[in-house]
Amino acid sequence: MGFLDMFKKKPKADKSAKNTADKAAAKAAPVKSAAKPAGAACASKTAATVEASKLPFSDLVVPGPLVSYKQGFGTPPNGKIKLAIYWAAACGGCDVSILDSNDGVLTVGDMADIVMWPIAADGKEKDIAAMNDGEITVSIISGAVRNTENEHMVKLLRKKSAIVVCYGTCACFGGSPALANLVGGGKDEILDYVYRKTPSTANFQADYHSDSAVVPQNKVDVADGELTLPVLYDTVKTLDQVIDVDYFVPGCPPLQESISYLLKAVADFVYGGVALPPKGTTVGVVTRTLCDQCSRRKEFRRITKIVEPHEIDVDPDLCLMDQGILCLGPATVGGCNAKCTSVGQPCRGCYGPTTAVQEQGASALTAIASLFPVIDDDPTCGEDEIIDIMSTIKDPLGYFYAYTMGKSLIKRSVTEKGGK
Ligand code: SF4
Ligand code: SF4
Ligand code: SF4
Repeated sequence: MGFLDMFKKKPKADKSAKNTADKAAAKAAPVKSAAKPAGAACASKTAATVEASKLPFSDLVVPGPLVSYKQGFGTPPNGKIKLAIYWAAACGGCDVSILDSNDGVLTVGDMADIVMWPIAADGKEKDIAAMNDGEITVSIISGAVRNTENEHMVKLLRKKSAIVVCYGTCACFGGSPALANLVGGGKDEILDYVYRKTPSTANFQADYHSDSAVVPQNKVDVADGELTLPVLYDTVKTLDQVIDVDYFVPGCPPLQESISYLLKAVADFVYGGVALPPKGTTVGVVTRTLCDQCSRRKEFRRITKIVEPHEIDVDPDLCLMDQGILCLGPATVGGCNAKCTSVGQPCRGCYGPTTAVQEQGASALTAIASLFPVIDDDPTCGEDEIIDIMSTIKDPLGYFYAYTMGKSLIKRSVTEKGGK
């Protein structure tokens, strides 16, 4: 059975009257508590993590007199480190999360020369290219890599930077841009849909370009020369699939305390000789799942119906899964202080999996499957009922892999020659 087949309704098989009566009786019986969701087990620590949630941005102080300066981490003629902030395939929310530090961002300006930050400051590709290798102390890169410009810029910043921070879920796991990997026909199918088939573009093309639809070209000759656009890739990649990365800060967007922690660590290292966190450290997460940070009461009830929050009167204290709302908390690493579940919305998994889990979507499915009453002494649900319930999830791949498609074992959809 394929992944999506699990969510498709199929014709009911004939059942004996006894079988039907047994199930009706079972449905009428009180529902017992189910086992703890499989994914809710504590994750073992297999990679370095740093919880930064208690560090206020005001702790990010301007460095004092230069105590010691680590060679190879930029040359600070004016006592400042050099900082680049770049967005690849991103929505801009990660940049805004850095600005969220309010006046703390001025502290960043006091301690660092910002050599590139497209959303807030100048700094061109040619300026970066003219720098010495390793001259930038730290580059913070958000967004996934989905076109030639993204790839060129992240490789350039890697070359010119002593430290590279993979910032935000799109950079760490592919995020929503990596859902494009589910389009079997790749970039051609995406461009065709976006520029020819969406209601707004189809109408526009019909009104203004009925003879031949206008679709962006990578090269166009004009009177003054050749204009080019970045080339879109078929497969969206995470940052560490393209360049070597020193630190990871997940979240959509991350809590600003995480980058505050990291910048302070860099300043302490450069100016005070304090050791940096180990390379590969994930900043701003705990080693357990979000369920362990969530204050909702967990009864591990069995569910026989999946609902959206707006369809029920949500109990403000009870676990959302216990109420039939799909929550990816059991499969998601803690770190955000349960931002969504504390306001009645289910976790969609933006912090990614724990270090014990490679496949967040499959882990979430396992957790949900463990809540169905299918055990022998309480067979409220059979295969058909489970398929009926699961088929109410409108976009299962989009739900379970909303943030981590770029790192999933599924990798991408493909269209075989001659059809799907
Ligand atoms: S991680 Fe979230 S906030 Fe950051 S760029 Fe991606 S979608 Fe935007
Ligand atoms: S609401 Fe979600 S995060 Fe909270 S305990 Fe339940 S499953 Fe876990
Ligand atoms: S609750 Fe889940 S989706 Fe919401 S911020 Fe936390 S990790 Fe992200």
